[in-house]
Order: sequence, then C-alpha cells, then structure tokens
Amino acid sequence: MKQFLLRPNQQLRLTDWDPEDTSGFDGGKEEARKALEKLKGKLEPLQELLYADHRFSLLVVLQGIDTSGKDGTIRAVFEGVNPQGVRVASFKQPSALEVEHDFLWRVHAETPERGEMVIFNRSHYEDVLVTRVHGLLPRATWERRYDEINAFERELTEEGTTILKFFLHISREEQARRLNARLEDPTKHWKFRESDLLERKRWRSYVAAYQEAITRTSTRWAPWCVVPANRKWFRDLVVCRRIVATLESLGLRYPPLPDGFRLTRIR
Ligand code: AMP
Ligand code: MG
Repeated sequence: MKQFLLRPNQQLRLTDWDPEDTSGFDGGKEEARKALEKLKGKLEPLQELLYADHRFSLLVVLQGIDTSGKDGTIRAVFEGVNPQGVRVASFKQPSALEVEHDFLWRVHAETPERGEMVIFNRSHYEDVLVTRVHGLLPRATWERRYDEINAFERELTEEGTTILKFFLHISREEQARRLNARLEDPTKHWKFRESDLLERKRWRSYVAAYQEAITRTSTRWAPWCVVPANRKWFRDLVVCRRIVATLESLGLRYPPLPDGFRLTRIR
C-alpha cells in the first residue's frame, strides 16, 4: 500500500494517479470483501489496546470531492469498532462563532484524546480548498495556511497523535455516475443538493486546489495517501489496511497492574 503514499516534496499530479486502480486485487470484489472482514477483525482489538495503553491517539483525516465516498468509508471501515473508542467529527461551513476565531480553533477542539481514535469527515483542509475555489479569502491568507497546517500537525504528532490523511480520488465520470444514482434512487434523494452540480462545474479548480494543498502538506510526520476510490471495495481496503498497519506499528501494550496487587486474591 506504500505506492499510494506521497513522499515529502513530491509534486502531486492527479492525472498520474489512476482512480480505477485495484492492484493486488485481481480476485475482485469478493476477495476484497473477505480481506476487509479480516482487517476489521484486527481493528476492533487494536482499538481497545490503543485505549488501554493510553499513550497515543489516532487521527484519520478524510478529504475528497463531493461523492468521493467519505461517509461510505467511515461506515464500511469502522462499523465493527466499539462506539466508545471512536468518534467522528464532521466539518461543515463554519458557524458564526467559529469564523470569529482562527481557522484551527474548531479543529484543535476535535482532536483525539489519549487512547482515542477520531475520524475527520472533512477537516482543516477545507480552509485551503473550498475557501480558495470560491475566492472567499485573499490568496495570501490561504497560502500562509499550508505552513500553519504543517506546524499544527507536527505539534500533534510530537505529542503522541498519529495522523493518517486520505484523499479519496475519483474520476469526473465516476462522480457523474454517483450523482445520477442519487437522482434515480428515491432513498438517495436526501443526499442530493443543487450545490453538488455547482461544485461539479468547478472540478478543475478543485483539482488544482487539492494538488497544491496535498503537495504542500505531505510531510514526513503526516504524509498523504492518495486512495484510488472509483471502486468502493478497494477504497475501503486501502484505508483499513493503513489504519491497521499503523496501529500494529505503535508497539501498543496493556499496562500492568499497579505495584503491590500482583499476588492479590480478592475474597
Ligand atoms: P457535507 O460534508 O457534504 O455535509 O458538506 C459540508 C459542506 O461544508 C461542504 O460543502 C464543505 O465545503 C463546507 N465546508 C466545510 N468546511 C468549510 C470551511 N472551512 N469553509 C467553508 N465551507 C466549509
Ligand atoms: Mg458529504
């Protein structure tokens, strides 16, 4: 899965990254489904261990254009995990209170506590994406933010939070298929918003904004993973694998009993 990680300073050009990619999974959907089940079986006990150990925390950042599958990924990957150990923070348009603060204020407030796993459904990256595409801020402001984001993420990392950033990469054709599916299926009408069509018209601006944001913020401490996301089953697998591999690499351990209780027998 290393092939989807961006190296620091590596220039991202999305045309070089195939959103249809399913490499390593020629067995297709069925084989992938079994592999995902197996990984989810590992995720559940790892979550408990993360909590028990209480030294580290995990922050999963999900970004991607409308319909890229942020909600679907959260459901598919985390459905088996203890709801007490994982939390989702969704970032919408900032509230009246939030815009009165610096852009990281509301984000920092949602970062995980020790032992906790938090998923960002959208994130501080919106502040260099949608704000830029819609010209909500002067260029100098969002340009400065790349460095501010890097410093923020570095501090979190040094304090014990592992940050996993995923960009869900779909093609423009796949977005059309998904929007049409929303129009055709009455149970998906609630997901459809006119703004989706207006945003789609800005596809090229979003690509430019994403490419620059990801390039500028793929750091040693928090690299981006560009997830081929046209195939939902492959997308889920890539995300779940990276999370499991990361938790396995932390050297988590169950803390021992406090001194003096080892030989105690309660009667
Ligand atoms: P959704 O994730 O589909 O519920 O949509 C949330 C909406 O909030 C999206 O249109 C985002 O672009 C928007 N949004 C999130 N963060 C910001 C932000 N910092 N500034 C402006 N719009 C934002
Ligand atoms: Mg959404």
